[in-house]
Amino acid sequence: MVSEKTLSPGNNNQEGVAVWLTGLSGAGKTTISIPLCEQLELMGYRVQRLDGDVVRQKLTKDLGFSKEDRDLNIERVAFVAERLVKHGVITVCALISPYRDERQHARNEIGRFVEVFVKCPLEVCEERDVKGLYAKARAGEIKNFTGIDDPYEEPEDAELTVDTSQSSLQAEVDAIIAYLQENGFII
Ligand code: ADP
Repeated sequence: MVSEKTLSPGNNNQEGVAVWLTGLSGAGKTTISIPLCEQLELMGYRVQRLDGDVVRQKLTKDLGFSKEDRDLNIERVAFVAERLVKHGVITVCALISPYRDERQHARNEIGRFVEVFVKCPLEVCEERDVKGLYAKARAGEIKNFTGIDDPYEEPEDAELTVDTSQSSLQAEVDAIIAYLQENGFII
């Protein structure tokens, strides 16, 4: 798919790639992104993690959760990711990114883009309720919560799907690394 500009460690002429993790809150995006980045760093790559929670505290503090604001959130992250990727950084974006059209927008903007569907049934995410947000959403204390009273459009053409209710964290990280290797994004 890419091989002309395969990314190899220590070569400043190489291009990066965005690894775009999408899925419900609590599906495992952040949990996967941390060891994924650590492993890529150990392999010698320059890596940047753009995590939804952090992005919303820093880059998009002014935005809420309407469709319009969610779209803007993704567009700003895509803008940053495109520039990082251009400079050879593997950019791991972990955002719910619930709308197909906005993920497509990010894909178009960034170019070198690997969409990973971090799949997990809503019931399991809700049971995990890592941040207590599902309980609040069910109680009506939070509005427009993805999966409860806001849509999540599952990817139809993700490069990779990992089901975190079925597999181990290490297997998920390994699957992503293997995909990047097999498709010439890293060596
Ligand atoms: P997200 O970033 O998608 O909102 P988090 O990574 O914050 O989700 O939370 C996912 C939760 O699911 C964590 O508590 C994590 O320990 C748990 N979990 C259980 N099994 C897995 C798995 N196989 N892969 C990823 N996370 C898992």
